[in-house]
Amino acid sequence: MNPADKNPLPQSKVFVEGRYRKLCRDLPQTLFFCPECKGHPRRRKGCARCEGFGKLTRDSVQELIGWVAGAVFKTRKNKFHGAGREDVDVRMLGSGRPFVLELLNPKVLDVDLAALEAEINRRNAGRLEVQGLHWTEKNRVRVIKETPHAKEYEARVQVEGPVDPARLAALVGGRRTIVQQTPERVAHRRADKERERWIEFLAFTPVEGSTDWLVRMRTEHGTYVKEAVNGEGGSTRPSLAELAGVPCRCVELDVLAILDDEGAPEPERKSPLVFGANLD
Ligand SMILES: [Zn+2]
Repeated sequence: MNPADKNPLPQSKVFVEGRYRKLCRDLPQTLFFCPECKGHPRRRKGCARCEGFGKLTRDSVQELIGWVAGAVFKTRKNKFHGAGREDVDVRMLGSGRPFVLELLNPKVLDVDLAALEAEINRRNAGRLEVQGLHWTEKNRVRVIKETPHAKEYEARVQVEGPVDPARLAALVGGRRTIVQQTPERVAHRRADKERERWIEFLAFTPVEGSTDWLVRMRTEHGTYVKEAVNGEGGSTRPSLAELAGVPCRCVELDVLAILDDEGAPEPERKSPLVFGANLD
């Protein structure tokens, strides 16, 4: 173990773990600097891309948590490590997504995490909530980032034309294999290849006063859910659209649960509540 982890000094790092729930559809997980000026204090002034803002979004899960945490730990520098991430417009509900916030060179260490959690939640009511903040160790960053998770989703699906409810009902239950080609929207940062994933439909519920359906499903880690619904012109097969026999489009998506790799609920993680209690 690194001695700096054992006896945290002001020139060190501390790691705080918790789960976040994202209640809105306009929040990326991490801070994104403007690709043009990279947020550089001088260069951003004349930047047309971000109009001098240095970023393309106003805030992020990382910043909403980091601003409050940074004020109490007295450091402006942090790194945010999530157990995967959802798209900007996807809500993260249920018991939330695990994350580790790494604070660099904090000047204060005896922070009351329950009070910090309450303050983050008070400041971000209706947009973001954190739960179960606790001290953790550096090795959790790797575990959290590398552990594959199946997920449970609810999608609001727009269907183009009449759909047979019995045909949808027949899709419920049982795991089916789908094959997905890398979607267009992520092709710039992911290798273009075919992936096999499992998907399980749990329920189809018509939305009252609309022709939309709410579709509950579980999918293997790394499944592109929007494409599993619409098929993206045959690049995912079979898609919900293909199975339902009618064009489908995912218009809203929520993550309801982060599951273990097999699709079962994850066991609760017991962790020390007091800083240093896990370091012996
Ligand atoms: Zn810029």
